Amino acid sequence: MSAFDAFPLGQPGFVSNILDRAAHLRGNDEKLMSLESNPASRAYVVHRDSLVVRKEGDGSRALLSIDEALKLGANPGTIFLGLRDGVAVFGMGISGQAAEKLIGRDDVAVSELRGMAMQGVVPPDQLSAIAMAKSMVNWHQRHGFCANCGARTAMKEGGWKRDCPSCKAEHFPRTDPVVIMLVTSGDKCLLGRQQRFLPGMYSCLAGFVEAAETIEDAVRREVLEEAGIRCTDVRYYMTQPWPYPSSLMIGCTARATHEDIVVDRTELEDARWFDRAEAKLMIARQHPDGLSGPHPFAIAHHLVGQWLHGS
Ligand SMILES: [Zn+2]
Repeated sequence: MSAFDAFPLGQPGFVSNILDRAAHLRGNDEKLMSLESNPASRAYVVHRDSLVVRKEGDGSRALLSIDEALKLGANPGTIFLGLRDGVAVFGMGISGQAAEKLIGRDDVAVSELRGMAMQGVVPPDQLSAIAMAKSMVNWHQRHGFCANCGARTAMKEGGWKRDCPSCKAEHFPRTDPVVIMLVTSGDKCLLGRQQRFLPGMYSCLAGFVEAAETIEDAVRREVLEEAGIRCTDVRYYMTQPWPYPSSLMIGCTARATHEDIVVDRTELEDARWFDRAEAKLMIARQHPDGLSGPHPFAIAHHLVGQWLHGS
């Protein structure tokens, strides 16, 4: 399956949710314990940005039984992600030491999630649930202590909360909003590249929404800061969860009021206007100068794609 087939227009990675979050079960410890010990229940095992998968024939299986996960060295603490066709699915973490022991085994792989997703090793319809597991496992690993008083906190509500026994503060997993936008001027679109991008790759500008800022203001501010372009007519397109560690990419379009780019070199290596013909070649990876657009896995590809399709 090509990346274009795996992530058709309007469906980047991490958006096709197959789980019923069944939030009403999170407070039911007895029920969660029985689901945890049910042999039909499944888990995704996450180590930092990597996923533990079983190698089977030519493919890989990301959903493991709880018993399998524990035997591979996953930590016993489970996070209840929800139900898939009535079957409970959990997220589990694994220590660096335990993950290292799995490297080199014929039957198991510990691989970086984004790479596996882009190569189609993990079915696209499972990526949303895996993103949930990754964000939640990462959150627990970074929030073992209370930000208010420093005491050790305890996991509650099936992993959707941490309580501080000392000052009684409640801590909830947070999601950080990021705006990502395609700015256009007539028949041209504005794309930029960061130094860390693959050679020749250009993508949409993006940045974190700041405290007490609207999405529209964040779009206008980021484009002005990074490329010196003032824009208007900010419109929402779609969102993409981005579990690095826990962002929500808010895809927008905007219209530039002028075309004089001033690149902020601390943020971007370059920013340029591309006409439709050139953008089309970049998206299709057929540009004569080897320039390319964002991968279909990323929302930026879909922002450019919907513009090229005239929607
Ligand atoms: Zn506290």
